[in-house]
Amino acid sequence: MSTRWIFTVAEMISFATELRSQSKTLALVPTMGALHEGHLSLVRQAKIQCDVVVVSIFVNPTQFGPTEDFARYPRNPEKDFELLESANVQAVLAPPVEEVFPAGFSTFVDPGHIATVWEGAQRPGHFRGVATVVLRFFNIVKPDVAFFGQKDFQQVVMVRRLVEDLNLPVRIVVCPIVREADGLARSSRNVYLSSEDRKAAVLLSRSLKRAEALAQSGEADAKKLLEEMRKMFAAEPRLQLDYAAIVDPATLEPVTHALPGCVALVAVRLGTVRIIDNLIFGPPGSSPEMKLQLALTAPQPDKESAATPRPEIDSLRLKIEKCRDCAAVSSISLPPREFLFKYLKRNYPNLDAIRVLVIGGCAPIGPSGSPYCHPEEVTPFSTRLYELLGVGSFAEFKARFALTDAARCHAVGNRVDERTLEYCAKHLREELKLFPNVQSVVILGEYAYLQFQRHILGREQASIKPFPELLKAQGWAQESVRVPCCGEREVRVLYCYHPTFENKKSPSVAAYLGSKP
Ligand code: AMP
Repeated sequence: MSTRWIFTVAEMISFATELRSQSKTLALVPTMGALHEGHLSLVRQAKIQCDVVVVSIFVNPTQFGPTEDFARYPRNPEKDFELLESANVQAVLAPPVEEVFPAGFSTFVDPGHIATVWEGAQRPGHFRGVATVVLRFFNIVKPDVAFFGQKDFQQVVMVRRLVEDLNLPVRIVVCPIVREADGLARSSRNVYLSSEDRKAAVLLSRSLKRAEALAQSGEADAKKLLEEMRKMFAAEPRLQLDYAAIVDPATLEPVTHALPGCVALVAVRLGTVRIIDNLIFGPPGSSPEMKLQLALTAPQPDKESAATPRPEIDSLRLKIEKCRDCAAVSSISLPPREFLFKYLKRNYPNLDAIRVLVIGGCAPIGPSGSPYCHPEEVTPFSTRLYELLGVGSFAEFKARFALTDAARCHAVGNRVDERTLEYCAKHLREELKLFPNVQSVVILGEYAYLQFQRHILGREQASIKPFPELLKAQGWAQESVRVPCCGEREVRVLYCYHPTFENKKSPSVAAYLGSKP
């Protein structure tokens, strides 16, 4: 199927209707053209996830202010078409302005508070224009999935809100930032940087990386990290800082502590060119995908508290930050010591019988999420876990496997940092000792992988293969390794995707787990 170039709304609607009648899944990748590797990374992800990919190319006048660069925004339709044809995209929607905003068009979407901060404050009306055109394109194409880049983090937050608030039947996928070799985030506007400004532009990613390195070495104070970033910008006279901020990924409100999942945003001007960049904080070694997940699964505050800081959560985080002793934080449902005695001993009167230990992500929030407390409950986690391990029921599971978690501290939600993993690893090591006959360990997901590699096997960060790379070929991986806390016994370790945290799914590893009793 060759790439079809569509210029009218009517043709797009009939093309999409025809595809849907053939039960094809449809992806939409909205762009403003002048395509580069960043855009193509979204296209590739769309090709993986859907049958048909539509890329829209539309320089939307309603998202540019009167003094902004609408007229001189880079346009390169021939090259765009070549790139999309080589990427085997089925359709390119490239309507003229009059087709999208015909005479008499008067309805606009107001995204609310989110459109008034950071980029919204610098570019009044920008997000109103983006939200309107995105909604219009969603209604024309009716995609099953739409792909956006983390590069425009505030746009991602706004679009996700739009989809949720208006019940739009589309799934939003967010892809990591693609960068040049020196770290500069790819952007259509980069072509307008003079060679001197291009050199100075590398400061954006450098300052973000510096803040990340400081945070990973234990300096979580957002004020200090921002001071450090601002110092770097101040040393470069070509560059004018519009803003630098460290924010909560859901509300975009500034945070006091740059914990995993929080996002650093920067915007600068170099001559007449404005460029933006961002970075999601995460534990050392975490992949861009995992960081995105941390940011996008951060608990969404309820609407009433959305505009106000959340001191109770902040103070809980601080407690966790300070003491690092989960057992000391009152809201933890299964503190480590109790965990060992109540949970394991109650469920496993004969600890010697257990041959396989399964290490999951974070402890469930409250006992109701644990299969041990509600063995009869069928949850997405239990269904996929049993499929992975080749068991039919909880009783069958319990007869051969014990399940534990990389992070006990559920108060951190999905935002687990390095020190939490390090702390919880102490308890994990104690647990491993409880099962003298364990032959295999099944690791579920990236957190458990990082913790096992670093804190159980004691490997150096530099020698640990990134999790997505390790699992890329067959969706799982294994190694036989001597485990220090198991008396240096050799244990077979199987690394799999987490049943519910990650988008991807591992095939069943039942054949590698020994025979049923
Ligand atoms: P634009 O053409 O700039 O409107 O961008 C279209 C889409 O591509 C948006 O969802 C952007 O966030 C995304 N995008 C732009 N640059 C990058 C990049 N360097 N890496 C990943 N995605 C990007």
